[in-house]
Amino acid sequence: MKANWEDAPERFHPASAPDYVPVPLMQELQLARLQCIVRRAYAHVALFRQRMDERGLDPDAIKTLEDVAQLPFMVKADLRDTYPFGLFASPMHEVVRLHASSGTTGKPIVVAYTQQDLDVWSSVMVRTFAACGLTRGDIVQNAYGYGLFTGGLGAHYGAEVLGATVIPISGGNVDRQIMVMKDFGVTAICCTPSYFLHLLERATELGVDVRALPLRAGVFGAEPWSESMRRHIQTAGGIQAYDIYGLSEIIGPGAGAECCRLAWLQIFEDCFYPEIVDPETGRPLPAESEGELVLPTLSKHAMPMIRYRTRDITTLIAEPCPCGRTLRRVNRISRRSDDMLIIRGVNVFPSQVESALLAVEGTLPHYQIILTREKGLDEMEVQVEVTPEVFSDRVGALETLHHTLARALNQTVGIRVNVRLVAPHTITRSEGKARRVIDQRTLDR
Ligand SMILES: [Zn+2]
Repeated sequence: MKANWEDAPERFHPASAPDYVPVPLMQELQLARLQCIVRRAYAHVALFRQRMDERGLDPDAIKTLEDVAQLPFMVKADLRDTYPFGLFASPMHEVVRLHASSGTTGKPIVVAYTQQDLDVWSSVMVRTFAACGLTRGDIVQNAYGYGLFTGGLGAHYGAEVLGATVIPISGGNVDRQIMVMKDFGVTAICCTPSYFLHLLERATELGVDVRALPLRAGVFGAEPWSESMRRHIQTAGGIQAYDIYGLSEIIGPGAGAECCRLAWLQIFEDCFYPEIVDPETGRPLPAESEGELVLPTLSKHAMPMIRYRTRDITTLIAEPCPCGRTLRRVNRISRRSDDMLIIRGVNVFPSQVESALLAVEGTLPHYQIILTREKGLDEMEVQVEVTPEVFSDRVGALETLHHTLARALNQTVGIRVNVRLVAPHTITRSEGKARRVIDQRTLDR
């Protein structure tokens, strides 16, 4: 097998085999794994057992995949409430790695991996990279943060197992990133889309044309980004920009990835069984409706998350991808219910603002949303950088752009938005996840 892979001219990695399993076989595997993981969680995780008992359920109740709907949900608060190790199903001597996500408030959430979990994580990351067209011989600049954050090490081991050359540069130090990208002949980069924008901009200042470098692919995740942002990145960077999906609670990066079709995230269903539920009621929704993505981990031993509510809003598509993978797909996730802003009673997602901004000529993909409250009324201001050409042009160009943007935003979000056009480089650049929203409304209550 190994010899075949090494000689194969096409970019198929054996780890990707589960992506192509016939659906009935996949379902058989999912059911067996679901039964196994439910038994494991029931035996070892007190919170899960208690919730099952309250519902009068025991692990034998899972006889078909549809029975998953009977199981209790797990939510982010469960991780905080049982901090640090309360959801572990493995004894500490079997746990070989801990990661933690930085909570914006209070304690972080802690996640654990056995050696087997790490192997699964590597394999789903291999499949992620393979789906993005990466292969042995690629030189991968891994600019995800290394450390407690799952992005860095998750991508690192996956790229190594793929057989690519990994540069574990982590985040930060933009000038060094550009030097390495250029001098080492980097062909693929992993980071947040906003950090890549930052790199592109700095490269231009340094006189480096990224489009002329061997870089051909960006594997972007860890923050929601829009289709307009993808178009911008692809043109400005001369690369294919792939969206990947994951979250620390589930595994880290590696829950799903786009393929060469650059549309839809294929969920690695043998490891994560996707469901869509109504975000308000938690009821399962019929096929192809938009709702909250729920992911039970089918193969995570140290910390099984059964029916984990991701807060990500998307649609599940059963029809397989034309690329030949049989996995179910979800629509690109550009909205997290956690990101939803309620402004004068209207629901607004930052990604809607992004799409509207980038659709208008003359803007740069650097923006910030500032929310204030004046006389009890919410005010939304969008600050966006404009191109140097527009900025240095006569006042007329700025005024026209201002008018166009105000109208576009008003139509998109449905409320009046104050637009402020600012000079290039005014808005603080992202060193990881971009800070798009500054909500000052609680301050003047
Ligand atoms: Zn595909």
